[in-house]
Amino acid sequence: MILEGRSFPIEFGVVEEQGTPGCQVSDICFHWDQFREAVSWADVVTFEFENVDEKALLLAEEEGKLFPGIKAIKAKKDRREERKLLSSLGLPVPRWYPAEDGEEALRILKDQFNNVGVIKAARGGYDGKGQFYVNGSTVPELRESKEPYVVEEFVDFDYEASVIGVRGKEGQFVSYPESFNVNVKGILLYSFGPTGDERMTLYVKRLAERLDYVGTLGVEFFVRGNEVLINEYAPRVHNTGHHTLDAARTSQFENHIRAILGLPLGETEVHSAYGTVNVLGLQEPPIDVLKYGKLYWYGKKEARKRRKMGHINVLGRDLGEVREKIDKVMSLLYPAGPDL
Ligand code: AMP
Repeated sequence: MILEGRSFPIEFGVVEEQGTPGCQVSDICFHWDQFREAVSWADVVTFEFENVDEKALLLAEEEGKLFPGIKAIKAKKDRREERKLLSSLGLPVPRWYPAEDGEEALRILKDQFNNVGVIKAARGGYDGKGQFYVNGSTVPELRESKEPYVVEEFVDFDYEASVIGVRGKEGQFVSYPESFNVNVKGILLYSFGPTGDERMTLYVKRLAERLDYVGTLGVEFFVRGNEVLINEYAPRVHNTGHHTLDAARTSQFENHIRAILGLPLGETEVHSAYGTVNVLGLQEPPIDVLKYGKLYWYGKKEARKRRKMGHINVLGRDLGEVREKIDKVMSLLYPAGPDL
C-alpha cells in the first residue's frame, strides 16, 4: 500500500517491529508502545490487518482519523456478529447457528446437520485456523472448549469467488470485476478472472453502504448452482485483489489510499485477464517463475508453513492463457504439491 502511495505527496508511518515489511518501506516506524505518538503524528490512520491492538484503533477512531471506522471491524471480531449483520441486510449466507461453547456446537452439528458441517471458532480464526470440517463419524474434541463457535452447513460449492469494492468519503462506490478463487485447507492458493455475476457487486455495495465504509473491502462468495452465498468479508485490501496491481487501471491499494484521503477514486476497469498465485511457506521462489509473471516479495523475516511470503501476478489475453501460466507457476513453486 505504501509503495502504491508513493506517487502522492504524503508521508507514511507504520506501527510495527523494526525490519518488518511495512517498516522496510515507510518513512517512520513506530513501536507498538508508541501507538499514541503514531496516531497523533498521523492525519489519517488505516490498517492492512484488522486483528491488531484495539486500543490503537479506538484512539484513532476517537480522533476522527480511522478509515475504515470501527463499525467495519466490530462485526469481524466475532463471526456470529458478522453473520447477523449480513443476514440483517438480506444478504444470503450459508445456513448457520451460533454456539456458546464446544458442547453446544457439537449438539447443533448433530441435531441440525446430522454431523456433516463446519464448526468455526467465532473469534480469532482466519486462513482456515480454528475451523473443523466434519463429515459423518469423527467429530472434533471440542466438548471441553468454553469458546464460542459458529456451526454451519458444509457448502458443496461449484466455485468460490470474490469482489473487491471501494467506497469513498462522499459515498461514491466502485468495484473490480470478480475473481475465481481456489482455496485449499482454508487458505488461498491462486485466483483468476475476470468473471461476471452482477449480484455479487450489488451485495458488496449494500454492505459497504451499511457499514459507512471508507476504503477498499473484499467479499468472499460461494457459488452453488444459481445460488450466491457470502462466506465472509474483509475490511481491508484483499489477497484476491492483488492482480489489480498489474491488470487494472488503478490498484486496490491506490484506491484505498484515495478513498481514505477523500480523493476521487480511480478507474477500476481491467485491461486483460489476470491471475495471482500465492507463494506460501517458501524461503525464496524459483527464478523461473519470472518467465510467466511479476513477483511481489514481502520481505518477511521468516518463512513458516502456510505463511504468505509473496505473490506472482500473471496476465493473459483470455482465461485460458492465464490458467496455463498459473499451472506453470504452481508447478515451479510446488513441484510436489503445496505443503499445507
Ligand atoms: P473462511 O476462513 O471462513 O474464509 O474459510 C476459509 C475457506 O474454507 C473458504 O474459502 C472455503 O474454501 C472453506 N470453507 C469455509 N466455510 C465453508 C463451508 N461452510 N463449506 C465449505 N467450505 C468452507
